[in-house]
Amino acid sequence: MIEAEFSALPAHPSTPVPEETGGLEHIGTIAAKVFEQLAQPPAYVLRGLGLFEMYREELEYLGASKWLVPSGTKPDLKYEVRVGIRRESRCECIGFAHHKHCTHVVDATIARRKSAVCDSCGKRHWWSEITEVFEDNGLLDWYPGDRLCRVCIRFGAWA
Ligand SMILES: [Zn+2]
Ligand SMILES: [Zn+2]
Repeated sequence: MIEAEFSALPAHPSTPVPEETGGLEHIGTIAAKVFEQLAQPPAYVLRGLGLFEMYREELEYLGASKWLVPSGTKPDLKYEVRVGIRRESRCECIGFAHHKHCTHVVDATIARRKSAVCDSCGKRHWWSEITEVFEDNGLLDWYPGDRLCRVCIRFGAWA
């Protein structure tokens, strides 16, 4: 009876004794951690959100998906951020060079989502300053889906 002999051998001293519910508890802990990560964005995303709230009026759109974003830590320092739509986003700060992500990219990505380019002046404005043209408006100069900023409308572009 070889099998019986093997099972009768004492466990190796370094072999940890498995507890009855140990395995299940472990899986539960991992699941909880994963869930926590899903529910709470990483720290740099939260900092990027904060940066946007603080400096949204100082953000400058340079065109061609490029933004000038305040560093957030050093006064007067701004970074050029390129928000990737089909390619990867990039920032010239040292954090991005190390981690491939940074608060400035998060900041500029939010700014891009919250703004649109006016079809009349070609400048980027916050959505709150933009009016979209609909078929019902019956405008002759613009097509449905075109976007006009408040300034252009004030100067008679809505026609
Ligand atoms: Zn950066
Ligand atoms: Zn405009």
